[in-house]
Amino acid sequence: MTQVIRETLAVGLLSCNCTILGDETSREAIVVDPGYDVPKILALLAKHQLTVKQIVVTHAHIDHIASAQSMRQITGAPILYNQADLPLVAMMDIQASWFDLAVPEVQPPDHSPADGEKVAVCGIIGTVLYTPGHSEGSICLYVPAETLLLAGDTLFAGGVGRTDFPGGDEGKLQASLRERLAALPGETVVVPGHGPETTIEIERDSNPWMQS
Ligand SMILES: [Zn+2]
Repeated sequence: MTQVIRETLAVGLLSCNCTILGDETSREAIVVDPGYDVPKILALLAKHQLTVKQIVVTHAHIDHIASAQSMRQITGAPILYNQADLPLVAMMDIQASWFDLAVPEVQPPDHSPADGEKVAVCGIIGTVLYTPGHSEGSICLYVPAETLLLAGDTLFAGGVGRTDFPGGDEGKLQASLRERLAALPGETVVVPGHGPETTIEIERDSNPWMQS
């Protein structure tokens, strides 16, 4: 049974949760949502002697995607995100102005994964779940062997990401939560895009967005 290293750190002014998943045997890693603070992310990778093989972005909001391109340049790993978020990429300058941030260089994804597609490195297999609502292209990465869900801004502890940005849709978000995420095993640990971790069971019991 391989051991998986997980590091989650809040990056940037908007405290986006960036997660590193690394396989202890192969030393291959997936980095999810490298929004900012590349030196901190690289330091953790070095601490665990991990090599990044996949960069996954849950959605194309600036706080989640801003440093994906620099991670790609440094590591050579491809960037995966849903092309349905390309309209958000096209308005990166406007996104930057919302938060008074510099405009980052953001490229189209190297690969736009399908719903249900596996994202794997040696020793770790995740499944992409389409969960539109917070943005049209929002995805979650579900890692069944770790009972782990990297939820982006689709689900927070006790709440959800806002739906009033372009591409947001409250009805779609509700469907994503009730039809897709609520169906996952209760013990699944949820790492949201911002704030503390939770579980599917806790959110099913107490988050109004998860209840029909
Ligand atoms: Zn967002």
